Amino acid sequence: MFTAVEAEQLIFSLVVPVQAVETVDIAGDVAGCLGRILATPVTGELDFPHWDNSAMDGYAVRADDIQRVPATLHIVEEIPAGKRPQKTIGPGQAARILTGAMMPAGADTVVMQEESERQGAQVTILKSSDRQAFVRQQGSFYRAGSKLLENKRAIAPADIALLAAAQQTYVQVYRRPRVAILSTGSELVRPDQRLHPGQIVDSNQYALTALVAQTGAIPVPMGIVSDDRKAVSRAIASALMQADMVISSGGVSVGDYDYVDAVLAELGATLHIRAVAVKPGKPLTVATINSRERPQLYFGLPGNPASAMVGFWRFVAPAIAKLSGRAGPWSPAFVWAQAQAALKAGGQRETYLWGQLTANQAGYAFEPAGGSHSSGNLVNLANTNGLGIVPQGEQIAAGQPVRVLKIS
Ligand code: AMP
Ligand code: MG
Repeated sequence: MFTAVEAEQLIFSLVVPVQAVETVDIAGDVAGCLGRILATPVTGELDFPHWDNSAMDGYAVRADDIQRVPATLHIVEEIPAGKRPQKTIGPGQAARILTGAMMPAGADTVVMQEESERQGAQVTILKSSDRQAFVRQQGSFYRAGSKLLENKRAIAPADIALLAAAQQTYVQVYRRPRVAILSTGSELVRPDQRLHPGQIVDSNQYALTALVAQTGAIPVPMGIVSDDRKAVSRAIASALMQADMVISSGGVSVGDYDYVDAVLAELGATLHIRAVAVKPGKPLTVATINSRERPQLYFGLPGNPASAMVGFWRFVAPAIAKLSGRAGPWSPAFVWAQAQAALKAGGQRETYLWGQLTANQAGYAFEPAGGSHSSGNLVNLANTNGLGIVPQGEQIAAGQPVRVLKIS
């Protein structure tokens, strides 16, 4: 049986990132660009700032004219932001200038309004300033031709601002991977179907669809498959045809109706992992199958809702991060927090306890969810934003540090 870290490393070694790229338009579809993974670095063709401009409301002057103050200058022009200056500032002259406006030729310094006194077409500068004071110089933030954004990173709102300002509206991103989702189990019914005694509502399909969508990949929900070997085989084969990765839940334990592993073997898959020493979520199947141009990864998660979700957060989400073309690290974010209650590992397995992670002055606090941490309990799993990790065989007393997997 693999440890969580061993399983994660092995999974990363099996993921082949998507290569295909497509073009997105920042100006035309902001929502469609957000979170996409840049396939090529972006280089700007403009200097930032584009030209020398004023950082203040005040007067554009020649530094030489204000070495001795008070100095009275003649105002030759008014330059609001957006106007192209028409005059060259000569000795004894100044221009009224507003924040962001382009500097006029001849001037090299801005005196802020508060350090001047205006009388009609004249201004008296009361305080001398250094040459270049309050001038944002062309190219001082960024020179045309240098790299604006690294590739293999998700496009964030500030990146969109930058791309827009640089007039780089079309960018190359990786195609979003498609992830097929199957629920196996003859006991399962859809949430909108009538529940007969003994049946269970399929919640994993919806949880996994939401989780996949959160990673930025395209979820392809494929419905419920009954515990019938032929049906499972058909469903897996069809899922592999439609997606870059397949996730199923259920049917990977050692029960009489757990067919997933056998069917995968029959379809020619290589089974790399069948169990990981974590709780919940010990039965975890990881297989690859060469049914398309490159190996596709298959995750068989356990059916218990909490097990399926914990398995997703710990192993599947990082694999999708790599599949999407992102630069590493792909592992989940772990933080240290102060445990707000005693935490105990279950059996000889690394144990993931769900709960609330909150930021405080000292860093983070972790409060495990109340009620049963049974892997079937969905009710107290709601609102989870962190999984407290207790190493195998250990206990963490209240007030002690616990490592927490952060769920965004
Ligand atoms: P399995 O891993 O197939 O043995 O399923 C373990 C437990 O999880 C059983 O109690 C199932 O009824 C339950 N279960 C399996 N699949 C789902 C699902 N898609 N949604 C909710 N519960 C499920
Ligand atoms: Mg089952």
